[in-house]
Amino acid sequence: MWPAMAAMAWCALAHAGNPPTPVTDPKQALDRIERLRTTDHPRFAQMLAEFHREVPRLSASEQWHLRYLDAWEASYEGYAASAESQLREVIGRSGDAALSTKASALLLSNLGFSRRYEEAYRLANQLTAALPAVKDPQARFILLENLSQMLNYAGQTDLAVNYARMMESVVPPDGSLCRPRYLQVAALYNGKRLTTASAELQQAIDTCTAAGEPIITHALELALDSLYLDQEQPGKALALLDRIAPAIEASRYYLHMLSAQAKRAMAYAKLGRDAEARTAALAAVAMGHPGDINEWLKDAYEVLYQVEKKQGHAAAALDYHEHYAAQDKGYLNDVGARTLAYRTVQQQVLTRQMEAEELGRQNAVLRMHQALAGKTVETGRLYIALLLMALASIALWLFRLKRSQLRFKRLSHYDGLTGIYNHQHFIGEAERTLRLSEKHARHACLASIDLDHFKQVNDTHGHVMGDTVLKHAVGICQQHLRPADLFGRLGGEEFGILLRECSRDQGLEIADRIRVAIETAPIEKDGRDIWISASVGLAFTDTCGYGLQRLCKEADAALYRAKRTGRNRVIADAGNGSLAEA
Ligand code: GH3
Ligand code: MG
Ligand code: MG
Repeated sequence: MWPAMAAMAWCALAHAGNPPTPVTDPKQALDRIERLRTTDHPRFAQMLAEFHREVPRLSASEQWHLRYLDAWEASYEGYAASAESQLREVIGRSGDAALSTKASALLLSNLGFSRRYEEAYRLANQLTAALPAVKDPQARFILLENLSQMLNYAGQTDLAVNYARMMESVVPPDGSLCRPRYLQVAALYNGKRLTTASAELQQAIDTCTAAGEPIITHALELALDSLYLDQEQPGKALALLDRIAPAIEASRYYLHMLSAQAKRAMAYAKLGRDAEARTAALAAVAMGHPGDINEWLKDAYEVLYQVEKKQGHAAAALDYHEHYAAQDKGYLNDVGARTLAYRTVQQQVLTRQMEAEELGRQNAVLRMHQALAGKTVETGRLYIALLLMALASIALWLFRLKRSQLRFKRLSHYDGLTGIYNHQHFIGEAERTLRLSEKHARHACLASIDLDHFKQVNDTHGHVMGDTVLKHAVGICQQHLRPADLFGRLGGEEFGILLRECSRDQGLEIADRIRVAIETAPIEKDGRDIWISASVGLAFTDTCGYGLQRLCKEADAALYRAKRTGRNRVIADAGNGSLAEA
């Protein structure tokens, strides 16, 4: 996600508009108020409040329009529940197709922001099916906009780009190409298909600047800034930030201010200007609200961790690293939840389709049966053949249903890249295994493995190669695990292994074998070898007990110590909170 994804929800169809004249024509007045929503929000709120005086004179359709604007305002102010009940009323009772579509589009975006992803994708599916019937250009524009955004959230880059392109043919008369272009860029950015040289990006910035859409322009400029940082051009990133900072400050849009501050910290850190990096990162952290999980706080904590580590402040570094890890995992989990919700809904749709197909087939069999009943013996053989065909088609359907259920189960339990358990499933399985081990008084060992300097692999050889290296490392680990051991990806380049029925000596031996195997098996690229290594932290049930949380904490502490003392080593907890090197 990037900052303007959030901005978009509030920007749905903002166009320049003039202040309303005294209310002679309520319908026109409502349209004018609606156009002020994001271009001049304080005025919008004030005029909307004042307009309520007119309620007794309004027709039913005008009252529904007003209800929709009230819901828009409620969701802008963060009153999601009240907005939702008003929107559902407009959708169910207004009888106005265009207004219902706009309300559905807003509801879709609200569900996304409330992290109710399954409901959101179910609604998105319904709206996609209804799209061909939506003729009102403004409603169609808003609907396409929200669909593009939600599909981008689910990582469906091509679909998101498609919907954004479709918006171009229904731009309202007083609108511009800013939003369609912005959404195309947003999808390409999330799909990692954008570079600082991409023509689409500069074109979108120019279009949105010309259209007077400051919030969206800032979002695009911040994306360009991220790309400079990704491409190791911190000088350019900093210069861009210096240029856009005053306008972002003036907009008072929280997420953009936070994003700009975190990027500033990263740019300074990359330039080796540690003191300034630290100050900027602390400012970003101070802007966060309690409980916030997002990638900008993650970046800010990462900078603080790197700076303190460089200065040799171990305790502060550890503290920042814990914050960084919590933000990183929280953010990855949220991305995972969106993708999973999207797939769950697609799976439900598929299952329903198959059930409907099956019902149709059963009806056909029944009809054949009735037809045959009227015939004589001569049709006997045909009858048996048809019955056999019907049975075969039912068997085939059952097989397809089972296969698709199994495929779905795999998707929800396994990591898409490496094929091993994902974080959530690993935790569940590890807890279950530890309970069994405790019941049978068997010892177990938890290993936390993190690849060393993995970011450099990405930076030097690209993300695709980084992915190949991750799969390579996973393959090596698997060669040293026993069938009963559990293996999962805990996030990025961090893995967990739970070794069952395992003494301290065995645990240390297996972990060191894995470490040596990773260290000595380079991966080849273009005739050159890429060497990697890994650090491992171990925690044992004999010293830490069978609680997974405590085991994870001790294994992480041991891993952190392994990193600090030079990497490419195995460190085990020695019990009583102290650590020992293997
Ligand atoms: P350290 O030795 O301290 O662990 O350094 P590091 O560079 O390995 O650790 P850091 O946490 O700074 O960087 C981890 C990197 O892993 C950053 C992130 O871009 C990358 N990463 C996370 N998930 C993936 C992925 O799925 N694929 C690729 N290619 N890279 C990923
Ligand atoms: Mg690492
Ligand atoms: Mg890591």
